Amino acid sequence: MAGNVQVRLKARPAGWVKESDFEIVDADRPVAGSGQLLLKNLWLSLDPYMRGRMDDAKSYAASVALGDVMVGGTISVVQASNHPGFKPGQHVVGHLGWQQYAVSDGAGLRVVEGGRIPLQAYLGAVGMPGVTAWYGLTQIGKPKAGETVVVSAASGAVGSVVGQIAKMHGCRAVGIAGGREKCDFVTGELGFDACVDYKGDDLFGALKAATPGGIDVYFDNVGGVVLDTVLRRLNAFARIPLCGLISGYNATEQYGLKNIRSLLVNRAAIQGFIVSDHLDRWPEALKDLAGWVAEGRVRYRESVAHGIESAPKAFIGMLRGENFGKQLVKIQEA
Ligand code: NDP
Repeated sequence: MAGNVQVRLKARPAGWVKESDFEIVDADRPVAGSGQLLLKNLWLSLDPYMRGRMDDAKSYAASVALGDVMVGGTISVVQASNHPGFKPGQHVVGHLGWQQYAVSDGAGLRVVEGGRIPLQAYLGAVGMPGVTAWYGLTQIGKPKAGETVVVSAASGAVGSVVGQIAKMHGCRAVGIAGGREKCDFVTGELGFDACVDYKGDDLFGALKAATPGGIDVYFDNVGGVVLDTVLRRLNAFARIPLCGLISGYNATEQYGLKNIRSLLVNRAAIQGFIVSDHLDRWPEALKDLAGWVAEGRVRYRESVAHGIESAPKAFIGMLRGENFGKQLVKIQEA
């Protein structure tokens, strides 16, 4: 029968992910049973956390088993429903993975409406990445007016929202991003006060020039040499929400920090967090984010790959920084 193209995990990568670690399979299209609904997946979110799910190392979430469909957040349209809570034609946000169709019993699905907020934004600024920015900055970073907030991967899904929320709190927002074009977008379109290109010659010098009053909050998305350099600019009682360490996700050897002493002498706090531990705060965060996006107070950019078969290549590109803004796959038209 076929009719449901899927991307499955074929091999566990050692170091950098390869396209051959995935397998494209045309599986049978599922049929909704009693109490179930059939979903046609329209958009897939590609996120850095998926790299961790490809490994079998112990982590905060289970690995994808070899041969299973890759996990991922989706926007779908309900095609058929034997479930009293859902009607055909409704759009839902869910976690249905790298495939064209899926059946569900409705658990974990949230009905959303397009219009003022484009549907795919529920995977970005008004979805998991936006909530990550909201939670990490406001609950751990605790920015105060007049302080300097620095964020890495600043043009990306999480980082772009962090800097814009920092501006709403009356802070100086400084981004760190790879390349001039991304930095120009961060200051020009997103309204950050400054942006440092970490691929330039003198990262510490550029960071010092962009943070004349030092750094009060560093929202870290990348770890490694960028984090180590930021440590040298911390102010007393600085806060570091540790969100991601993308510079090490594909590395076979991890970077060793040299400037830990700065945490002690500045009495600074560094705290890792995982956004899915804080589901109780999601409704509040999503309400804020939806309002800000609808009003144009939070802006963002997207990179869109087309067709589910393009997901492996787009995913690897995102891990390399080839994306510019939230990385999505447009799986198919409704
Ligand atoms: P992005 O849209 O920011 O895309 C990833 C970006 O990472 C790339 O565009 C690239 O930007 C940057 N990058 C890649 N390699 C390096 C490197 N070696 N050094 C510095 N930057 C690099 O992704 P997200 O916004 O979705 O995720 C950002 C971070 O947040 C990730 O680390 C992710 O794991 C984390 N995260 C954590 C969550 C949590 O609950 N703790 C939830 C969601 C995300 P550039 O070109 O600027 O280098």
